[in-house]
Amino acid sequence: MKIGIYFKKENAENAKIVEQEAIKQGFEIDNNNPDIIFSVGGDGTFLRAIHNYIDKLDSVLFLGIHSGSLGFFYDFTKEQVQMVLEKIKNNDFSIKEQRLLRGEVVSDFSKEEILALNEIRIENPFHTLKTDVLINNELLETFRGNGLIVSSSLGSSAYNRSLGGALIDNDIEALELTEVAAIQNKVYHSLGSSLIIKNNKTITFSGDIANASIGYDHLSLENEDDLISLSVSYSNKKVKIICDPKRSYIQRIKEGFVL
Ligand code: NAP
Ligand code: MN
Repeated sequence: MKIGIYFKKENAENAKIVEQEAIKQGFEIDNNNPDIIFSVGGDGTFLRAIHNYIDKLDSVLFLGIHSGSLGFFYDFTKEQVQMVLEKIKNNDFSIKEQRLLRGEVVSDFSKEEILALNEIRIENPFHTLKTDVLINNELLETFRGNGLIVSSSLGSSAYNRSLGGALIDNDIEALELTEVAAIQNKVYHSLGSSLIIKNNKTITFSGDIANASIGYDHLSLENEDDLISLSVSYSNKKVKIICDPKRSYIQRIKEGFVL
């Protein structure tokens, strides 16, 4: 079995621990065609690892070794590397599958697909963004403000949470629509709260949005001139993550935010 290791410079030492232990246990290190990617770092590193191997999601498993305390995508610490590799060798591990969000970006002359684990955003930080918000083609509102994000359940603890959105238990697959600095005054109104909807729905932004920016996870589409619409739903693409089935969602949020 071939192991790939993904890390940022500041985690080179921890990545080395993984590499040495893997070699010691007879694994081959191959970052081009790995069976399992060890992401070493934090949640931000994990996002980058996923996007780096986005074309190989069917054949690659991901496993997070956290550099500090445990993260949302990370069930293992560097002290557990030896144990984890032994379990992999004995085929004794659990996998959780996470569907990615899919954004369909329609511009004057193109149609593009983007994929995200956490969230897809439409934003205009410098001018008021004005966009119609449709759910399954039904008009909900015309929104004015800095932007809107559509978060996955897994992403609900990221940017969505900073905006005051609710955490969604990761065992529930849902979409969460959350406002960024909505204008609420005598003239303009929007929903004013986050909205959690079923996983089979599609949220579309369209209308006067030609100059809006689109962000997804740590990535963004630059100079997306003449944007016509952005539609967000769950895709059929899945990320397979090796996890510790004993670590509950409550444990995750407790370690992430309370303790
Ligand atoms: P980043 O520094 O890699 O990530 C920003 C922070 O979000 C980090 O503390 C990261 O944890 C944490 N994080 C990422 N995904 C998470 C998740 N699913 N649950 C809980 N925490 C999570 O920043 P970046 O390079 O721009 O990465 C993009 C992601 O960061 C976006 O998907 C967005 O959700 C998040 N973000 C948050 C804010 C905000 O809260 N105001 C603003 C911009 C972006 P680690 O420290 O473990 O890496
Ligand atoms: Mn980070």
